[in-house]
Amino acid sequence: MPIDGPAVVLKPGREKALLHRHPWLFSGGIDHVRGDPASGETVAVENADGGFLCRAAYSPASQIRARAWSFDPAETVDAAFFERRVNTAVAARQSMLDGQHTACRLIHGESDGLPGVIADRYGDTLVVQFTAAGAEHWRATIVQALLAATGAKGAYERSDADVRTLEGLPPRTGLVAGQVPDEVLMIEDGIRYRVDIAAGQKTGFFLDQRENRAAVRSYAANRAVLNMFCYTGAFSLAALNGGATEVLSIDSSTEALALARENLQRNPQLPAERAQWRAADAFQELRRLRDAGQQFDMVVLDPPKFAPTAHHAERAARAYKDINLWALKLLRPGGLLATFSCSGGIDAALFRKIIAGAAVDARAQCVVMRAFAASADHPVALAFPEGEYLKGLLLRRIA
Ligand code: SAH
Repeated sequence: MPIDGPAVVLKPGREKALLHRHPWLFSGGIDHVRGDPASGETVAVENADGGFLCRAAYSPASQIRARAWSFDPAETVDAAFFERRVNTAVAARQSMLDGQHTACRLIHGESDGLPGVIADRYGDTLVVQFTAAGAEHWRATIVQALLAATGAKGAYERSDADVRTLEGLPPRTGLVAGQVPDEVLMIEDGIRYRVDIAAGQKTGFFLDQRENRAAVRSYAANRAVLNMFCYTGAFSLAALNGGATEVLSIDSSTEALALARENLQRNPQLPAERAQWRAADAFQELRRLRDAGQQFDMVVLDPPKFAPTAHHAERAARAYKDINLWALKLLRPGGLLATFSCSGGIDAALFRKIIAGAAVDARAQCVVMRAFAASADHPVALAFPEGEYLKGLLLRRIA
């Protein structure tokens, strides 16, 4: 019995991923579309025999032609549905917010059952991002549900991620609801930051590194630290907070460095005289530091996404190897390297291989002390391994 309303009907045998609750439906698996659904409209997804698989958001422009909202045949996709999903996601973060932490990710897209929806909280301000047609369609409903669930005073939109182009959506940024202060302030691990929600990277702050910054803090005592790709200084301030003897922080963006300096000033409890900031290109500066004979007891490497998809993996692998090789050369024996990749196209196993190759070429003997991933407010649905984009390693150079 076909289901009423617009529907996407799969080719025979193409329902496997959906049966495993993977939320993406690729155009190649579709036999035909019934009705004439608009971009973002909810469609039923059926197998070749007309059996119900899920309700999903239709996205005619994208290779990911539909993203599942619900696998429950009895569940309607309406405002109440989004209120339930938003409330569940917000409640799951409750324990992550207290006097020492006023920021976290509230909605992490597919892994929170809300494909294409990102929402971050910075104090009383929300920053939202809609990266898929269905998320765009329900934007106002989701924002209202978020404001109601959090009691936040306002929401700002940063729907300027490149992936929107793949969905046929133009970029959009600006105030969506309520009020947003001129200065958006937050606290992480007791340290105060200003977040540039309008012009900063992504939604303004890399909340995914929260637990990894706490790890760096815990190892920083009595170490001379190099923080490469420092952005607005969060790893640097964490290292100072942990008792680092000096912290050299480098980024190519002078705007980011200006905010990093300001952030340090906002925390008079930290020893500002131990911090040095430098605008430079990482690839050149790592070599220059080596030529100058500089050495460190800890290096943090948190570069931008070199490989957005597996397509870019080979070139990205060379770039990761290069910076890690030079970083390892700057480490004294006993020194630590906290190294990260946020590239979706490079998985944790490949990243470890790249780092192993870099260590061989640097003639550095290393052990892995721990593996890093994104913090708990960036969960990864078991059915959605693509959600696991951030990986990292803490290495100790033993010789
Ligand atoms: N570790 C930071 C986030 C880093 S984001 C945090 O915890 O907040 C990546 C940073 O790399 C950005 O600030 C960007 O300006 C910088 N960057 C990009 N390419 C660079 C390059 N070639 N050299 C130095 N910095 C670079």
